Amino acid sequence: MQAVRHPLLSPAPGTQREIVSLHYGRPGGPKAYIQASLHGDELPGMLVAHHLRRQLDALDAAGQVTGEIVLVPMANPIGLSQFLLHAHLGRFELMSGENFNRHYPDQIETVAQAVEPQLGQDAAANVAVLRRALKAAVEASHVDTELQSQRRTLLGLSCDADIVLDLHCDAQAVMHLYTETPCWPDCEPLARFLGARLTLLAQDSGDNPFDEACSQVWWKWNRHFAGRFPIPQACLSVTVELRGATDVTHELAAADARRILDFLRWRGLIAGDKPVLPEAQGDARPLAGSMPIYAPRPGVLTFLKDVGAEVKTGDVLAEVIDPITAEVCELKSPVDGLFFARDFLRFANAGMRVAKVAGHEAVRTGKLLGA
Ligand SMILES: [Zn+2]
Repeated sequence: MQAVRHPLLSPAPGTQREIVSLHYGRPGGPKAYIQASLHGDELPGMLVAHHLRRQLDALDAAGQVTGEIVLVPMANPIGLSQFLLHAHLGRFELMSGENFNRHYPDQIETVAQAVEPQLGQDAAANVAVLRRALKAAVEASHVDTELQSQRRTLLGLSCDADIVLDLHCDAQAVMHLYTETPCWPDCEPLARFLGARLTLLAQDSGDNPFDEACSQVWWKWNRHFAGRFPIPQACLSVTVELRGATDVTHELAAADARRILDFLRWRGLIAGDKPVLPEAQGDARPLAGSMPIYAPRPGVLTFLKDVGAEVKTGDVLAEVIDPITAEVCELKSPVDGLFFARDFLRFANAGMRVAKVAGHEAVRTGKLLGA
């Protein structure tokens, strides 16, 4: 294993942060990229990365890593250091207010124009040409801020990978995934290995989150070169929501790491017999059918349903209670679906989104991701 340090642009004299990447196997074959805690306050992925590292060290020592596996055990040193009044933040940069998982730069048109003369009828050769050009374009891109240099570092490490796993978590939730619709055929086995209850599908959901920055280049190039050059969906990129923020236990993390490695073995990046594909624990649904549940008025919040419950339209999920007037406001599910995530705060201010139910029909439009 080779550890590589990537210094970020220094925002002020005397301070410099860095990202560390751990490299297993050898370049040239299929490549997987895994990062943890892009939202600095989401820790389950960091513990999974610790277990992945231990298991990968053993596999590497035994010469069993046959592909290339890059692990970034902590992807956001800026967010990790954000403590304010004893609370850990980590989701938004304090300078710009930008979400650390949005606004990844787009090199799609630039790269398409640069490589067009080199493309042909061999899809695999086209993939190799596009990957090389994309990586060079990302690494050569100009950055002005520490945040931009963090995005460039992460994208530079991942943009030429076959498999990208971005390890996040929700507040309180079941295991679920986000991926772009063209990735679903390749994601379906991953969902089985991880035991995901739900995969939320969208295409270009808005504001360029990290996973979509890695996957959308391929379907956009496919569309750009349609009828001229074959361009396959060469990257499976997935945001893995490792349950809730306090689901940080060795039991869960060791099992999740083992399941990720089973998938990588199944995909041929680790030597040994292909593991048997597990039974599906859930299904895929449109992100546009994931319904936010809002508290229309403030009060103490108490849930009547646990995450993982299948609910019907009109089922009461939670109550918001005004302690002054004793008014009780019922929060009901707007759809039949899976009650898959809820907040961990128990005071709701007016208009706060406190939970999510995944329905089967796409009903929302516009930008589909929350803040
Ligand atoms: Zn996150």
